[in-house]
Amino acid sequence: MAHAPAASDGTAIFEQAEHDHAHCVDQALHVAEAICTREGARLTPLRRQVLELVWRSHEPIGAYDVLARLQREVQTDGTDGRPAAPPTVYRALDFLLKHGLVHRIESLNAYVGCAHPQQDHSGQFLICQECGNAAEIEDDTISKAIRDNARRIGFTVDRVTVEVSGRCPRCTGAPHA
Ligand SMILES: [Zn+2]
Ligand SMILES: [Zn+2]
Ligand SMILES: [Zn+2]
Repeated sequence: MAHAPAASDGTAIFEQAEHDHAHCVDQALHVAEAICTREGARLTPLRRQVLELVWRSHEPIGAYDVLARLQREVQTDGTDGRPAAPPTVYRALDFLLKHGLVHRIESLNAYVGCAHPQQDHSGQFLICQECGNAAEIEDDTISKAIRDNARRIGFTVDRVTVEVSGRCPRCTGAPHA
């Protein structure tokens, strides 16, 4: 079987049901290390672990689920001994957000890993209401159009996140055009 490429390229997540997700995770952690080094930030073991948990799939995960999984892992792992407290997890998620390593999906109150945090961009997501997967698309013209329209009416934009809900090709069973 051919080596499946990482589905880090937006909608490829929907197309590649059996993609090599371990590769997505490896790549994400590798890029995260590089970004933190460049920005003089420290990817502590906890922050790294939280990032790994967010990257466990392409389905956005809530902070509470991250915490629950983290506590489970620490207990079985036995490396730390002390279960992580909620504020610690929120701080770790804030750190990852600040460095663009994850995006926050407001409509789901959840987080999803960013596949290309090296590039300055605003998140645009196609979110499947059936399987819960979220694919990030990148089209500068979308955020530019939003910013231009906002400017026209004197609205100051802090952040542009586009969240589109619907159903992915796998869930509709429709062949991808
Ligand atoms: Zn993947
Ligand atoms: Zn992104
Ligand atoms: Zn789906």
